[in-house]
Amino acid sequence: MVTAGFDVAIVGLGPTGAVLATVLGEAGIRTVVYERDPAPYSQPRACHLDAEIARLLARHGLADELPSLLTVSAGMEYVDRPGGRRLFTFEGFEREPLLGWHEDYVFIQPELETALRRRVAEFRHVTIRWCEAPPLDALRAEARFVVGCDGASSAVRRAAGIGFTDLGYDEPWLVVDLDLHAEPDPPLPPIIQQVCDPRRLATFVPGHAAHRRWEFLLAEGEDPDPWTLLGEWGIGPQHGTLVRAVKYRFHALVADRWREGDVFVAGDAAHMMPPFMGQGLCSGMRDAENLGWKLVEVLGGGDPALLETYQAERKPHTEDVIRLSVEAGRTLARLAADPTDLPTPSAPDPTRWSRLPGLPLGEFPLGHQVPQPDHLDDRLSPWCWVAADDGFVAPDGRPVVVEPRATYGHRAVLVRPDRTIAALAD
Ligand SMILES: Cc1cc2nc3c(=O)[nH]c(=O)nc-3n(C[C@H](O)[C@H](O)[C@H](O)COP(=O)(O)OP(=O)(O)OC[C@H]3O[C@@H](n4cnc5c(N)ncnc54)[C@H](O)[C@@H]3O)c2cc1C
Repeated sequence: MVTAGFDVAIVGLGPTGAVLATVLGEAGIRTVVYERDPAPYSQPRACHLDAEIARLLARHGLADELPSLLTVSAGMEYVDRPGGRRLFTFEGFEREPLLGWHEDYVFIQPELETALRRRVAEFRHVTIRWCEAPPLDALRAEARFVVGCDGASSAVRRAAGIGFTDLGYDEPWLVVDLDLHAEPDPPLPPIIQQVCDPRRLATFVPGHAAHRRWEFLLAEGEDPDPWTLLGEWGIGPQHGTLVRAVKYRFHALVADRWREGDVFVAGDAAHMMPPFMGQGLCSGMRDAENLGWKLVEVLGGGDPALLETYQAERKPHTEDVIRLSVEAGRTLARLAADPTDLPTPSAPDPTRWSRLPGLPLGEFPLGHQVPQPDHLDDRLSPWCWVAADDGFVAPDGRPVVVEPRATYGHRAVLVRPDRTIAALAD
């Protein structure tokens, strides 16, 4: 393939494309990004992200901005009616912030995207073209690799002939976003609630700053007045400004292939999930980070086979996260039908930063994030060993950082650029 100056062409500067452009920009990879919308999509969509993603964003230049962009979330509970009695919670998993960040945060997606776009604009080797992307053939002529980060209706995915598999969720929901006035202060729950009310399933999220989010299950064809639904929560126009009330179909879809030759898909272009675990954007950023460092290594002369591990690692992980999200949604309906039909709470596990699985690299802690006590990331190079003692000699000559609190009891763990544990030494 003849290339005209770029190593990577990215279509889409949403959260996924912006993280990928940042990873490539930091490595000086010649990158072109096509984005048709000069302003980030203005409506709040994602409002939750997790510790791994906060850590990722901090590592990629947003550390100073995160305190103003994020609010620590108090977690999630299932209740029997709006603002009602707790039936179930995942709080058995609450623990010290193992990755250096709390397990859950709320945020406002357009604010985060604005910060990410500012970051991408810093890189000399990253060219942003504010226009519709050209057809795939033209992109492939322009760059050695093409990555479709172009969202759910991805033209790149379709042009590459990649289809979706349906993992079995398809329901209409109304998403309602409100900006609370300073006064009067309504008595809303301080924690994310999954409302298992047989009359109508709902989700409530006490968001960042004045943002409050509700999601209401709809009957097919139903078109209720949002203020009537908010009235059940004691909320009226005196309490805030309606930012939007939009119907969505929540899906559970995963791309059959994440690569076709030198073309990759990432983010919503590769998967969609119902938002009950708040993991769509998080999964897209994980894709971008995973593919990003691998492209950097291969473009730097590394073994091209490394790129095969992108789908091998990210697809099964995302499928697991989609299943967890679908299960979190199905639990609402189950508890609405029978409030005693409770999920079995897993035992608290202080070694796990989250309920999420690791990448499929082997037995725990392989495939999991290395813990981050005391800003450990600041001391790590892209690949390095983290050892329990200073007598450890790296078998591969890579740098060694001594931090016994980050080895899960092993003599040393090998950490990849994405902070995933890739090997153990005992
Ligand atoms: C109601 C709702 C709640 C959600 N809650 C959460 C949550 O709490 N936590 C979470 O992690 N996720 C959540 N999500 C999911 C999250 O919003 C998405 O997963 C995320 O926005 C996907 O990012 P992306 O960059 O992959 O795609 P997008 O955000 O869709 O970005 C794609 C970009 O590509 C551009 N583009 C597309 N086609 C072209 C083209 N041909 N040429 C040029 N540019 C193009 C678009 O303009 C856009 O900027 C939620 C989603 C919804 C709808």
